[in-house]
Amino acid sequence: MQKQDYYETLGIQKGADEAEIKKAYRAMAKKYHPDNNPGDKAAEDQFKAVAEAYGVLSDADKRSKYDQFGHAASDAGFGGGGFGGFGGFDFSDIVSEMMGFGGRGRSRNRGPARGRDVEYSMQIDFEEAIFGAEKTIEPNIKDTCDTCRGTGAKPGTTATSCQTCGGTGQTIRATQTPFGTMQMQSTCHTCNGEGKIIKEPCATCRGQGKVSKRKKISVSIPKGIEHGQSIRYTGQGEAGDIGAPKGNLYIQIHIRPSKTYTRKGNNLYMQKEISFASAALGAEIPIQTPHGEQNYSIPPGTQPESIITLKGKGMPVLQSERMGDLVVTLKVVVPRSLTDTQKELLRQFAEEAGDSVGNGKKKFFDRFK
Ligand code: ZN
Repeated sequence: MQKQDYYETLGIQKGADEAEIKKAYRAMAKKYHPDNNPGDKAAEDQFKAVAEAYGVLSDADKRSKYDQFGHAASDAGFGGGGFGGFGGFDFSDIVSEMMGFGGRGRSRNRGPARGRDVEYSMQIDFEEAIFGAEKTIEPNIKDTCDTCRGTGAKPGTTATSCQTCGGTGQTIRATQTPFGTMQMQSTCHTCNGEGKIIKEPCATCRGQGKVSKRKKISVSIPKGIEHGQSIRYTGQGEAGDIGAPKGNLYIQIHIRPSKTYTRKGNNLYMQKEISFASAALGAEIPIQTPHGEQNYSIPPGTQPESIITLKGKGMPVLQSERMGDLVVTLKVVVPRSLTDTQKELLRQFAEEAGDSVGNGKKKFFDRFK
């Protein structure tokens, strides 16, 4: 199948700047978001395409490769672990933190309101972001009251439609202005916008129709998830009005930093101390990768701050089988204390190299003798 051009997907020009790309993405993601298009497969596909396009065009490096090579760049997996595949995991379940969700909170439109979305913050360890994890959370989420089945009215009684607004929750008032008659819409004061009057409220939920319930939810942390990303659980949020769908639960992931590794995208960075003898003579040095220890041969004459790259030993690429790299900076350590034998050997070494070593101060004054 011919893949659509990323710029076309977002409806922007090739030279669009960062702000334009972001703006277009927000608009498109909102338009095609599954919440706004329930059961619409085409919209869902387009939503995924929009997310993929934004993933590439919002990253300067990926964008320049895409501009150069087109979709072939992602197929060939150029540098940095490529663009990330979308197999095996439903992309719509991972949403980026910057996306503005439409329709959060209570809608004042006619008809029963969808339940509120719930956000839940979850801390995970750095290793869990690398290998994935199965976790359980127990958040308190407002659910339909079992006593009144969500009506808010005491069992055996019923709520009556508000007579002021006719059950719409809104009152419309015509006002004369210098520009003509204006229709002013406002929330009905009699029922506070609920559209109904409960004479005898349910004792369990005090007429709210909803009560907080402790839910047990299993969370699958996908390998390679990034700090700040959210996992969506459709229909696991707060209960809506009777007949309306539940909101969604968004679990936002916070990754505790690692003591050893720094993450940039899919690559991991670390420092490794080596002795100056190893640097000078060359050595097999053990490197602790997240995926186990690996020996690496450094050549004789290795300089301080040399960088070695272990391919595929970094971070898994989200929703893909690919892996980033582990980039190691070598720190050559000068010993702070030496044994007598070591001192003697180093003096011989220095003599051989024609270095003047030892007590530098003494040598300095020797010159004036
Ligand atoms: Zn109740």
